Amino acid sequence: MPITAYITHPSCLLHEMGAGHPECPERLASINDHVIALGLDGHVARLEAPRATREQLGRVHLPAYVDAIAQASPASGLRYLDPDTALNPHSVDAALHAAGAVVHAVDLVVSGAHHTAFCAVRPPGHHAESRRAMGFCVFNSIAVGAAHALEAHGLERVAIVDFDVHHGNGTEEMFSDDGRVLMVSTFQYPLYPYSGVDNPAPNMVNIPLPGGAGSGEFRAAVTDHWLPALERHRPQLIFVSAGFDAHREDPLAGLELADADYAWVTRELMAVAAKHAQGRIVSTLEGGYSLSALGRSAALHIRELVTG
Ligand SMILES: [Zn+2]
Repeated sequence: MPITAYITHPSCLLHEMGAGHPECPERLASINDHVIALGLDGHVARLEAPRATREQLGRVHLPAYVDAIAQASPASGLRYLDPDTALNPHSVDAALHAAGAVVHAVDLVVSGAHHTAFCAVRPPGHHAESRRAMGFCVFNSIAVGAAHALEAHGLERVAIVDFDVHHGNGTEEMFSDDGRVLMVSTFQYPLYPYSGVDNPAPNMVNIPLPGGAGSGEFRAAVTDHWLPALERHRPQLIFVSAGFDAHREDPLAGLELADADYAWVTRELMAVAAKHAQGRIVSTLEGGYSLSALGRSAALHIRELVTG
């Protein structure tokens, strides 16, 4: 069986935004526990993420923003970037390693060292815009990775798949009207950040779902909208913004997905990747706030990345 890269960094466990914050270090422990419980330990290569460089971040973020985040790092306590998003003394390092994990994953799958990679990192990234942190996100890791694939490796077409329950406004802002990047997503609407429905660019396939929608609506969106768009785009590498907060057990949102939906959508993406992308998928953790549902669902996602 092939070996999937499982990329993380100790700093991602040290970033904390205060007692009771749902985006907590225990999320990574739950994923790791369920990976072991599913018997995947021998099928993943545990790798340490490097830091993203200023050049890599600067492909999607304003250089002045990258500098401002570095300068905002507190010596102690918390510094708030928005009402939900704070830095502790370890957070900037964690955000640099989270983005660096996706860059490293791209290098590994493009070189053929691994066919797929999962980045078990936090903070998440898909809400971070070119010049703004928001929604628990500091640097947009998936966007940094996609830009790396295009600019450093010369890929001509990539796809970003976002099944987090929240719309990936930051990723959309960075790649709107960039024909090299197809973004397909589902998200609950209306829900934070209340974007994604106003006249999206042609390379954005945004499928809003109403609260209460579940497996049937999600699978229809994937089958009727994502897969035909992916088939037309023929991505050479597929990125996944893997948020697991559309799960029915998630406390922050109101979609009703089940564990099996995450295995199913991953299998569908593996089939697209096998056809167009030499099997290459780079996935990174976004949301998911029920520790149990997150661990179970992410482990099933990773199992499909291993076995296809
Ligand atoms: Zn989310």
